[in-house]
Amino acid sequence: MNDSDDAATQTPSPARATANPAPETTIGRTFEVPDTMTAPPRTDAEVPDYARALGLPGLADIHVHFLPQNVLDKVWEYFDNAADNYGRDWPINYRYDTDTRLNIVRELGLRAIPALTYPHKPGMAAWLNEWNAEFAAAHDDVIHCGTLYAEPESADYVPAALAAGAKLFKVHVQVGVFSPDDEVLDPAWRALEEARVPIVIHAGSAPLPGTYTGPQAVANVLAKFPQLKFVIAHMGMPEYDEFADLAERFDNVYLDTTMFAAGYFSSPAEVTPAYRERLAGLEDKVILGSDFPNIPYPYVDQIAGLAALGLGDDWMRSVLWTNGAKVLGLD
Ligand SMILES: [Zn+2]
Repeated sequence: MNDSDDAATQTPSPARATANPAPETTIGRTFEVPDTMTAPPRTDAEVPDYARALGLPGLADIHVHFLPQNVLDKVWEYFDNAADNYGRDWPINYRYDTDTRLNIVRELGLRAIPALTYPHKPGMAAWLNEWNAEFAAAHDDVIHCGTLYAEPESADYVPAALAAGAKLFKVHVQVGVFSPDDEVLDPAWRALEEARVPIVIHAGSAPLPGTYTGPQAVANVLAKFPQLKFVIAHMGMPEYDEFADLAERFDNVYLDTTMFAAGYFSSPAEVTPAYRERLAGLEDKVILGSDFPNIPYPYVDQIAGLAALGLGDDWMRSVLWTNGAKVLGLD
């Protein structure tokens, strides 16, 4: 399907000079960083200069969503009802057509663009994987992604997606309402483990707890497939320490920063000294994630919020670029 055509008719893009119309952050101004650190950006437009000042070639953001437009429209509809679904408003900050969104993340400095898709019901993942292959083929800088659902067919379509070149997977435990340690997934996990392909997995019990969310089922999968390259979305929010345990125990388990300390679910000031200390020790395991475009604040808030943890420029370099580039295989 031609996603761009769909998008152009459904989500008109406003005419404007720069690709990114986002308002200024509140985080960068509210929270100080130590004098020894490079001053964080205050607007999306300042993000590329900040990355350059740190000596980075760009940002390696591992948690970005591009979806078939009809699926994205449903996701946006869900967030439009966030007051009912989550108990608070969630205005999508980057509600533009596909090409505009691609250009926004390029301008922010993403050298490779994830297109994380995920099914909410059986029989959908194989189709999403086909869409992912087409979307990646149409854009040089889009990462070929894949997904799965706990269903017998995953034993076939996961190896097929890997053979077709999928480089990054996404699994959503709460939306999918299945357990990652369901045995029906064993062939899929085995194929992903052999391929050493990273899997961004939303398994934490926030913003909404699910029947199968939480660290135990992920730990069970790792006990069986210890080389699986799991990237725990949202740092495992709210089970931060339990998921940090896994990142410390397994060389191949990482944490992504998506929405952490960005001022919406948590602010830098709310991070406990003990957890902040753990994050310093996990410098090689924390990877930038943003949830673009489905975030209720400008992208810069994620960057400024992480800087406001005050863990130093080296920590920021590792998180914004080095760790993600390693896992995504970027130069
Ligand atoms: Zn996400």
